[in-house]
Amino acid sequence: MQDLRQLIDTSRKVVLTCHVNPDGDAIGSLCAALMLVRRLGAEAVALVPNAFPDNLRRTPSSQELIIANTNRSKVAALVAEADLIICLDYNGLGRAGVLSELIAQSEAPKVMIDHHLLPEDFCQIAISRPSMCSTCEVLLRLEMEMGWAEEMTREEAECLYIGMMTDTGAFTYASSRPEIYESVLWLLRRGIDKDELYQAIFQTCTEGKLRLTGYLLYVKMEVMKDCGAAMITLTNEEYRRFAVKNGDTEGLVNLPLQISGIRLSVFLRQDTEVWGKIRVSTRSVGDFPCNKMAEEFFNGGGHKNAAGGSLMASMDEAVQLARKAIRKYANIYKDK
Ligand code: 5GP
Ligand code: MN
Repeated sequence: MQDLRQLIDTSRKVVLTCHVNPDGDAIGSLCAALMLVRRLGAEAVALVPNAFPDNLRRTPSSQELIIANTNRSKVAALVAEADLIICLDYNGLGRAGVLSELIAQSEAPKVMIDHHLLPEDFCQIAISRPSMCSTCEVLLRLEMEMGWAEEMTREEAECLYIGMMTDTGAFTYASSRPEIYESVLWLLRRGIDKDELYQAIFQTCTEGKLRLTGYLLYVKMEVMKDCGAAMITLTNEEYRRFAVKNGDTEGLVNLPLQISGIRLSVFLRQDTEVWGKIRVSTRSVGDFPCNKMAEEFFNGGGHKNAAGGSLMASMDEAVQLARKAIRKYANIYKDK
């Protein structure tokens, strides 16, 4: 804590970053930390590797985020000038998209604030709390311990709540630790309106997304009942047909888990930027470890109940591999 305090006090130009394909926790923690660092008296900018979903525009200060993959030279200059880099909601350099190389090359000290398992060793200070539901919760607790939380604005509290809410599916998973609700209570007392935030973040999809959801569930979902698993695939052609935007596929992977008896869901999606690449998302309930499956089969990793990875393969090849992975893991965990 002393080292962190000194780093913040002596830094003039702070660059804040989050992971590629940012979610609510990445954007929430990034925006909250941006406002915090400015409040503490330093100059700060916040960089996102690529675009973020439209619904997250409700996050205060998100209009200030600089999208790295469409502002390459500006972002390179900002990282080069930084005398402190803060890494939010990711545990390894490889997760920072186009920012990865820039951060690796920078000699500025780095601070990680995160909740993913197995943090890699690339930061001088790593505040990693895998027991917490979200990076936003880690940041809130850190601010409390550092004596920074007392001056927190309502806007900052909204950012932190958005991260906690989105990383727990509005407090429906990864959210049984009692302390989470102490954090929520504290944010409510800063004046946030949790119902309005839920509405703004979760109840605002496009017509295209809702129709795509219907199509994927009706036409594309394969249920492997004997394995307690379901798989959904999405090709680029289908993606274009529904005129949906980046981020509009967020959350679709959770839907099959609503079926009684299904405890594993796998979502395969052709990457819109890299030809021949398939992005894999997995979700599970209970003790089923999707991170192990993602590590073994999909070049990835993640949390026990939410993991992902990617493959260079055709959709047919990816489907074959996913079926194999599902069968293997369903067998290992069939009695658990
Ligand atoms: P999502 O399915 O939302 O893209 O990812 C869920 C979780 O899986 C992320 O929070 C992250 O922990 C993990 N994850 C997703 N993609 C990758 C990947 O390519 N590599 C690793 N190591 N983890 C991933
Ligand atoms: Mn997170």
